[in-house]
Amino acid sequence: MLDAPAPEPLLQTNRNLFFPGVTDAQWNDWRWQYRNRVRDLSTLAKFIPFSKAEFEQLRLVEEQLHIGIPPYYLSLIDPSDPEDPVRKQAVPSACEFTYRSVGINDPLHEEGDMPVEGLVHKYPDRALFIATNMCPMYCRHCTRRREWADGEMPKSRPMLDAMLAYIRNTPQIRDVIFSGGDPLSLPLSVLDYCLTELGKIPHVEIIRIGTRFPVVLPQRISDELVQVLSNHLPIWLNTHFNHPREITPESAAACMKILKAGIPVNNQSVLLRGVNDTPETMLKLCHGLLKIGVRPYYLFQCDPVIGAEHLRTSVWTGVEIIEKMRGWTSGLAIPTFVVDTEGGGKIPLGPNYLMYQTEDTLVLRNFQGRILQYKNPAPLPSRRRRRVTSSLPFDAKPQRPRLVKRDKNSPES
Ligand code: SF4
Repeated sequence: MLDAPAPEPLLQTNRNLFFPGVTDAQWNDWRWQYRNRVRDLSTLAKFIPFSKAEFEQLRLVEEQLHIGIPPYYLSLIDPSDPEDPVRKQAVPSACEFTYRSVGINDPLHEEGDMPVEGLVHKYPDRALFIATNMCPMYCRHCTRRREWADGEMPKSRPMLDAMLAYIRNTPQIRDVIFSGGDPLSLPLSVLDYCLTELGKIPHVEIIRIGTRFPVVLPQRISDELVQVLSNHLPIWLNTHFNHPREITPESAAACMKILKAGIPVNNQSVLLRGVNDTPETMLKLCHGLLKIGVRPYYLFQCDPVIGAEHLRTSVWTGVEIIEKMRGWTSGLAIPTFVVDTEGGGKIPLGPNYLMYQTEDTLVLRNFQGRILQYKNPAPLPSRRRRRVTSSLPFDAKPQRPRLVKRDKNSPES
């Protein structure tokens, strides 16, 4: 049995304060939550106080802010704390406009990797399917902020058909990833259409859905939605919790509903300054996720997108977090820390445990800093070892760490 998370008193207090008179039926209805998202600065300021200077600065650029915060997620914010980690993800800050010269509009070079509008084909066997630019909440660290300029626009049927046709005609694509805008904001009939058409393509083996609904508007995970998804298994669902306070009875129940339908739920966090950039917070988050049946999968370095520079940390912060987790908790709780590069894909980074190696011995460092020797197996005389490179599907050559040869003249040899 999985433990239910502790009740979230702040959520209940804020709900009573911010939305008095709203019935449970309304609150638990995802349509009510979606319709009543806070979409403008003045309404937001009634719930979350801004300094006068910041409010005036933001008012000047209000048309660029693209605010969208569901009542549920708004109620997770501590209004008395300007540094609140949930607030930083949802509420715009004047800092978004301070460092605009630093970032990139399309930090992953997705526009350049789109053979068809909406379909990113960067890796050999995977394709990203962007069916809409609508999200239940507009995260301040979003990599695809460039899409906000178009307003809220799901792709038309002819556009979806062009994306599906490209996949149909590209046999090496075996994995299709629906990603943000949030695919679960599509009407169920459209989602079902896309999943049905993909299901007819023999070379598409799996479908992944990237969604923040379980975190920011968990009421959306309705029986009808789960039924549609479960008609198209195997599906893998990746969600996006960034802070332990986002794990509530509501978000836990949404994840459990998906899990019970036979859909594994993984989590992709983004490393954010002042939100989750300490080993303690990340440990608490990952332990909390495992308790609700969600596997920590990736921890992304925040992309250098225009408007999010103030939320980015040094890459070394991520490496240090992994270093403080590896060995100190179960491996299941440890996400892979990755940097997503402009046009070059994801690169995993972590602490270096290989100090040096000779042909037959590796010198390793364990999680406590102890230096240990590890023997490679002796080469078999009768059989040549199979070259690892021959099993790779493309021409990449794995690089071994530099071989350190002993110097015969050295006093240590
Ligand atoms: S849910 Fe994802 S795609 Fe949507 S705004 Fe947040 S990070 Fe961006």
